[in-house]
Amino acid sequence: MSGDPKEIKLVNNALANGTRKKVMNFLAEGDRRIEEIGETVGKAMLDYHLKLLKQAGLIELEEGSASLSEYGRNFIEEKAGEGTDKSPDLSGAKPVEIAELRQLLPCIADPTKFRIIANMTPSPGGTLKALEPLFPRGRYSEKVGALITQKGDVLTTIYGSGKVTITMIKNEAEAKKLLGDLKETINGAIAKGIAPAPREKVRVDPMEVYKYLPQTNCGECGEQGCYTFAIKLMGGDTALEKCPTLEEPEYATSLEHLRVLSAYI
Ligand code: SF4
Repeated sequence: MSGDPKEIKLVNNALANGTRKKVMNFLAEGDRRIEEIGETVGKAMLDYHLKLLKQAGLIELEEGSASLSEYGRNFIEEKAGEGTDKSPDLSGAKPVEIAELRQLLPCIADPTKFRIIANMTPSPGGTLKALEPLFPRGRYSEKVGALITQKGDVLTTIYGSGKVTITMIKNEAEAKKLLGDLKETINGAIAKGIAPAPREKVRVDPMEVYKYLPQTNCGECGEQGCYTFAIKLMGGDTALEKCPTLEEPEYATSLEHLRVLSAYI
């Protein structure tokens, strides 16, 4: 599972159902034959439920039996760890390397700035949540499967797969410094084996959301304009899907960033 928003959506859809959650919990106890699963969770639409879980990468199916995939097992373990007051433990984590992967791309929110895509190895996976308190404006989003951090206008997103995107960068020198700082911060915590205690959620200013909206004020979302839409979005009173313009290919990158920002809600 790469942390791609489409894949995250598949996981969310797969787990938005009581029967499929029961299947996951049952498989957490060990591999099972399909008949056993049917006897435990019910046989109605079982094939369909298993298919959705497989499509989301949460389980594997083989010759009449099912098992949790590695991703599914990590997912269950991460859920089990939620709600505990333990300090985030990084003692098992290895130091990371971060390499810039792609050329600087124009940043849609501000064409005078740039965007980079980099890769973190080893991929942080489940340790991402523990890294959240390292960043003054850090927020781990289950929905996106990513840790989002903000410093001024710069938005950094670290996905569980290791993909890292940084937006609103002035130049290549700034990109290198940001990647170096990111590595230093994470490896500093890994060397100590523990991250600071979790903090309260941060709020995103609607103007930060507005920057990524089409700014046409067309009103198709039912709001007076894009800024009102941004305020309602951050208040949880509307959804990105209400803006049809964002579905157009030219707004694909903006939509990706908006999904990330809306994770602060
Ligand atoms: S539909 Fe989208 S572009 Fe149109 S006003 Fe609403 S947020 Fe702005």
